[in-house]
Amino acid sequence: MRKTCHFYGNKNLKQVNVQYTYTHDNKYLIVNEVPCEQCEYCGEQYFKMAKR
Ligand SMILES: [Zn+2]
Repeated sequence: MRKTCHFYGNKNLKQVNVQYTYTHDNKYLIVNEVPCEQCEYCGEQYFKMAKR
């Protein structure tokens, strides 16, 4: 199922690999080459983080 941008309903999402940074227990964790879909219109990134 194809997602759309929740801002404008734009359907042009491109696959990109980005550097993802988040904090956990007051530590910065950096993950490189995280695949996500980026809206070509506003640049919003949608991560497909699989819960394990
Ligand atoms: Zn967008």
